[in-house]
Amino acid sequence: MSRRRPLCSCGVPLDPGQSVCVKCDRPTALGRSGWTQVDVAHHGQTGPVAERQADAALAQAQGLLAAGLVIVHGRGDRLRLAVRNRACRWLMEGRIAKFEDEPGNPGALRVWLRPPV
Ligand SMILES: [Zn+2]
Repeated sequence: MSRRRPLCSCGVPLDPGQSVCVKCDRPTALGRSGWTQVDVAHHGQTGPVAERQADAALAQAQGLLAAGLVIVHGRGDRLRLAVRNRACRWLMEGRIAKFEDEPGNPGALRVWLRPPV
């Protein structure tokens, strides 16, 4: 009962999967694009920094009610493995529905979100 829902800019709480606000009809993030993206690789990030950035990006995407998140980890093994390990943990925690390599792009991972519970 105490779970906080994200708010529309007009102040009305938004439900997961809602594409427009019931009060002001503004599109939510889901209504705008459905997917968000974060780059955790191209500013010299270490593995732990990339994991923290991925965590923050997941929380932000959940707050925006996005359908999914693309994590750009680059082509090196170190960050690719760090991001995949993070995604495995999110999956075990029930925070995401699934993940897979972005088709045609070995430098990015696609993550499908679950609605917040
Ligand atoms: Zn609104």
